[in-house]
Amino acid sequence: MSLTRLYFKHPEPDSSRQRLYPVFLPFSGCPFKCIYCSQEAQTGQQPTPHEVQVQRIHQDICTLFKKKPEPFSLGFFGGTFTALPAATQKLFLKTALELRRAGAVSHIRCSTRPDCIDQGRIRLLRDYGVDMVELGIQSFDSRVLSLSKRGYGGEEALDASMRIKQNSLELGIQLMPGLPGSDSASFARDLQATAEMQPAVVRLYPCLVLEDTLLARQWSRGEYRPWPLNTTLALVSNALLRMWLAGIPVIRTGLAPEGSLLPRIKAGPWHPALGAICRGRALGAYVTAMASRLGAGGPLQVLVPQRYISDFWGHGKENEKLYQRSKIFRKNVDTWDHELFMLAGCAPQLP
Ligand code: SF4
Repeated sequence: MSLTRLYFKHPEPDSSRQRLYPVFLPFSGCPFKCIYCSQEAQTGQQPTPHEVQVQRIHQDICTLFKKKPEPFSLGFFGGTFTALPAATQKLFLKTALELRRAGAVSHIRCSTRPDCIDQGRIRLLRDYGVDMVELGIQSFDSRVLSLSKRGYGGEEALDASMRIKQNSLELGIQLMPGLPGSDSASFARDLQATAEMQPAVVRLYPCLVLEDTLLARQWSRGEYRPWPLNTTLALVSNALLRMWLAGIPVIRTGLAPEGSLLPRIKAGPWHPALGAICRGRALGAYVTAMASRLGAGGPLQVLVPQRYISDFWGHGKENEKLYQRSKIFRKNVDTWDHELFMLAGCAPQLP
């Protein structure tokens, strides 16, 4: 038996690390308030007159760009952008386009609902150089969508995703595991549909019960039970690895811990480090799968790129226990100044 070395990259696909300038337009354009949605809690922002916002975007981006001449990705979030009156969309997009021409913005995106995207709306976005449309799909399962009162079905969600891709726009998909009627099987089907759609990016937002929402009232009457935290962590960690292996970057896992969010969470799988926990678990699962290729002896030495060492050990070093089964211990792990992971062991043959 000879010493075998196995080299591999972190399974996360490369994605743009471009700095993002998010513009929140709480509930702007939304046909109604979704049962779980509290934009005030999620974004910490109150509605502001659109003209004021446009001036602020222009001023802010110009100032920041002067300080550091690196272009932004400018994103319009928090509402249903494409359901705003065309004049309002143009007000924002004209500014975005001006900033793009000045070199301060190089990517424009907006978020919307699957039932608010059609050829006319896509034409407007394309006329103003929008690059990406993020769809708040939440689930492709018609039963889940109906119980969650989203107002569209799975077919419509698929059609909207296809339409965006067919019009050469980048597609973003937002999923919300844990909605009423969802379970591990429906979430697995959502991930399958997402992987087949090959979006440019995915966001995973486990469903929380936020104050002053219909979901909070359903929960207080015992009509809705959120997913437990442990179940959510397990399923979302698997989902993360599933997306990575399908070549899809997951750019957000869980809501950002805005100061306004925490006091408004009534129930649900909240953890301030949810994203870090899932990243650690997803990487841990991948590393152990790689280690199994070395056979029962496991690796004699493990070298980890310096920048991934905290993900490698996981949140609170929780992967240590998992790694023991693969014979990965602190004493045989080291970091190195390299982009690849390396496992060295005595495997008679690698597949
Ligand atoms: S979930 Fe999206 S569409 Fe629904 S109310 Fe919130 S921002 Fe509007």
